[in-house]
Formats: sequence, structure tokens, C-alpha cells
Amino acid sequence: MLYRVIDAAELPSLVSAFMETYEVVAPVKRDQGYAFETIESPDDIELAYPTTMASPKKYFLPPEETLMSFDARTNSVTDFAAEITPRVIFGAHACDINAVNRLDLVFKDGRYPDPYYVARRNATLIVGISCMPSETCFCHLWGSDEARFGYDLFLQDIGGKYLVSISSVEAANILEAACNPRVATDEDRIEFRHATRRRQEAFNDAIPDIQDVAMLMDAFHKDPFWEELGGRCLSCTACSAVCPTCFCFDIQDTFDPSGEAGRRERVWDACTAPQFAQVAGGHNFRGDGRNRVRHRMYHKLNGFLANHDRMLCVGCGRCVKACKANINPIEVLEFFERKGMQDAQ
Ligand code: SF4
Ligand code: SF4
Repeated sequence: MLYRVIDAAELPSLVSAFMETYEVVAPVKRDQGYAFETIESPDDIELAYPTTMASPKKYFLPPEETLMSFDARTNSVTDFAAEITPRVIFGAHACDINAVNRLDLVFKDGRYPDPYYVARRNATLIVGISCMPSETCFCHLWGSDEARFGYDLFLQDIGGKYLVSISSVEAANILEAACNPRVATDEDRIEFRHATRRRQEAFNDAIPDIQDVAMLMDAFHKDPFWEELGGRCLSCTACSAVCPTCFCFDIQDTFDPSGEAGRRERVWDACTAPQFAQVAGGHNFRGDGRNRVRHRMYHKLNGFLANHDRMLCVGCGRCVKACKANINPIEVLEFFERKGMQDAQ
């Protein structure tokens, strides 16, 4: 890893240099909060932002996309060539970079890479930015408060300047051409350490740190807690829509009015939707809220860990704000903390 320091005043030049070759997507302020959007000018960016309402996952896995078209008259199938836009996601927090790393495990690095995802991922540079946690952030519990890989540049604010971690030649060349990066001094490294400590100390310590939550979920799989938690679910699927690591999708064939030709579409789906586990004949493997919500929490805090050695949840806190029924991983952690206190009495 290469480290350099740039002045904060140089940031607009860096953004402008990216804009010459790439579409730049960055956090901007909207009425309801902050959102990742394509910017027209470096002035549009709000880098001191709390977590955005939705994550940048749509730039890798769009809510809807065509996978292929077919024509029954000629009995032919045409692979759909997705239009790939060279893009920079500028100003991603560490949790969102770690979320993309998890999507990579599923769609890029597995035995069957997804060509649509891979094409977008390979055409995207990621520039990360350091952040301060809000009260719903718990990324530090899962080690997602730092991005160790998965970005091209990472900018750590050290007061009027940025310590830049560089991990790709492409981004390094643009940084070199647009700014005057200098070698980091010992003073810069000390400021970096202070900034890291300030962030670590700012996390909401009312959120329980239950590192063995996966094991506890197995032990309390049939606890009435899941009935109570799932019984509140409205099946609105807002949690999955905002989550940076929810990746379930449905495949739908859409026919032209003639009924002879059409397209195969991939659309986001959510395991909290009632029909998600419904199969032919009408049987539903997860027909009630208890089973659906428990399944979602298991995928986030248990199953992915067993397969990939890390939580699927990165602790971004988006679902904490999005769910009107107050169903989120913090509720699960608090349940196990209460359980632990009961057992200790
Ligand atoms: S858990 Fe909350 S956000 Fe998710 S579907 Fe249920 S009510 Fe909606
Ligand atoms: S489950 Fe909630 S807190 Fe965890 S990554 Fe998804 S939206 Fe963020």
C-alpha cells in the first residue's frame, strides 16, 4: 500500500480529473437525507455526510436489468450486452466498501461469476472517505469500520488535509496528475492515529457487543423472541432495499403483446416478502413473519459467516432507520444481551 498526503483544497481538482473520464457518483444532500447520485460539479458533493439513505449497490446490481431476450418465432435467444458506464464512486464510507467486498464474494469471486455484475465492478473505481459514526452505526462490531481492500483510493481526513491510501495504478496516476501528493510525515501518521481513535471512541456504546451472536442464534433458534420480532413485520421490504448487502433477486420473463417474444429480467427481491419462499403448488416454506425475519437475521449474522468467515451485515445502520417496525440487527443483539443478564442472575 502506498500513502500520500494532499491538501483538502486539492479535492475539487481530483474530482474534476475523474470527471474527465468517468461518470462520478457521490453523496449529495436531498430533502430527506443524503443520496449517492451522479454529480455535475465537484461543488455538488457533501463529503461530511452521515450514512446515505440507500447504499451504492444499485451501481453494481441494478434494481431491474434485462439478462437476455428471446423470440419463439425463430427459437432464438440473444444475450443482453449491458451498457457499462465507466464510473467512480467518490466518497464511499468504509462500511459500504466492505459491503461491496461481500457482494464481490457472491457475484465475482465465486465459482460462477455473474458477468453483468463483474462488468460493472471492473468498470468502477471506488474512492473511500473516512467518517464519524452516527448513533445507529455498529460497523465496528464486525470490523467493517475500516476498509483494508476493495477501494482504489481511500481518503482519511487528518484536519485540512487527507492521508490517501492508494491501491490502484489507474487512480494513482489521476491523483498524481490532478494534485501535488507528498510523502506522509511522522506528524501526518500521528494525526491519522488521533483521527482513528476519535472515530473509535464516537461509536454508540449502548449497542451491545455480542461477538458470539451466531452461536447464540443457533442455541435460541426456537425462542419466542422470533415470533414477537417477526410478528411486527409489515413485509414492506424497505430493509432489503436500503441494505448494502441484500442481494436476493427474482427472475421474470416479460412477453411482448404478441406473446411470441420477450425478455428475461432480473429484479431485486427480499426474503421478508410473503411470496419469497412460495413454490409451485402454493406451499410457502416461510409463510409467516417469524420465519421470514428470523431467516433474514440468520443470513446477516450467521449463515454468511459460516460460509465466508465474515458477517453479511456490515453494521451500516440503514435498516435501523428504514424499518417502521423497529426490526433490525441491534434488536437481536439487545435480545441476547438481555438473555445473558437473565442467565447471570
Ligand atoms: S423487517 Fe421492517 S423494513 Fe423489513 S420488511 Fe419487515 S417491516 Fe419492512
Ligand atoms: S442488515 Fe441493516 S445494518 Fe446490516 S448491513 Fe444491512 S442495512 Fe446495514
